[in-house]
Amino acid sequence: MIRKGHFPFLPEPMPSDPADTRRSNRSRLLQSIITRGPATRAELSRRLGLSRPTISVIVGELLTVGVITEGDRVSSGGAPGTLLEISKQTGVITVADLRSPNEVRLAAVSAAGEVVTADDVRAVTTDQVLAAVTTFIERCEPQTVIGVVLAVPGMVVRGEWSGTDERDGEALALGLRRALRLPVLAVNAAEATAIADLRDSPSDVGMATIMLDDVVSVALILGGRLHSGVRRPTGEITHLVPGTPGPVCDQCGRECLVAQLRTLSLPSVDASAPAVAAVLAPIAAAVELGDVVLSGFPEQTAEALAPLVQEELRTRMPPAEVPEVRVSRRGAAATPIGAAALLLYRILG
Ligand SMILES: [Zn+2]
Repeated sequence: MIRKGHFPFLPEPMPSDPADTRRSNRSRLLQSIITRGPATRAELSRRLGLSRPTISVIVGELLTVGVITEGDRVSSGGAPGTLLEISKQTGVITVADLRSPNEVRLAAVSAAGEVVTADDVRAVTTDQVLAAVTTFIERCEPQTVIGVVLAVPGMVVRGEWSGTDERDGEALALGLRRALRLPVLAVNAAEATAIADLRDSPSDVGMATIMLDDVVSVALILGGRLHSGVRRPTGEITHLVPGTPGPVCDQCGRECLVAQLRTLSLPSVDASAPAVAAVLAPIAAAVELGDVVLSGFPEQTAEALAPLVQEELRTRMPPAEVPEVRVSRRGAAATPIGAAALLLYRILG
């Protein structure tokens, strides 16, 4: 299906006006620092494929307006330089992780991408979540908060989430905007997690974060862009049937992926690896995945599972195409860090 304004066979249209080019380069540079972390001028030149003088001009402008600051001096590949990072003066972002139906996991994340404080609060209904978020913000220097992100389990359309039976996503966002007078953005939690994992991923390969929760999701970042869904969250692979023997799912009645992963424990890792590889191989081959990240799996299990999945992929794919399979280095902080990055980019980019 070809959607209006979308060119499936052509590269993204390049801006023709010099002012547009400058804006686009500035936006790409900020996006790179926000999603991939602080970098020197030389590193930014490599990441973006722009000349050193072009980078220096954009950096100069951003330093003048105070969006970025110069941090530590480092030597990257021989040439020393200072790390450019998002200014700490930019403020903090409040992230409300709503994946659990019974609680809200709150975090304050600095513009530099660090979790400053975090708290889990029991909250089931829309009103309880609203109260939990506003109370959390009042407690942590509300004048420094520049926006709120809802990291949600479902489909997000243009920054809005419709919600669940217990939680009305639109009423929640509206209530927060009225109470706080701040931008409120919903993001899919798996996509946010993938954005955080991108910091540790080689820049020139497709990356996927496989997240285990009540559901199993694959969030894809291809060509530096999140691949989001149109009718449902992209990459929901919860009830796919891998064709490997396993327990029967009480929801779909088949030997599906989530049924195999719900019972995942260290002794059963060997049995689960083929199931994960079976659903992953066609995805990895079709979109040229280079880097696969496991997120939200029990920690020891994930460390044991990653090499086994990679080994299983070798039996199902041409060896040269097998992606690296690793465990997320960001742990529980991945979702708030990625969610905050998405809001920051929306505000600054
Ligand atoms: Zn199922």
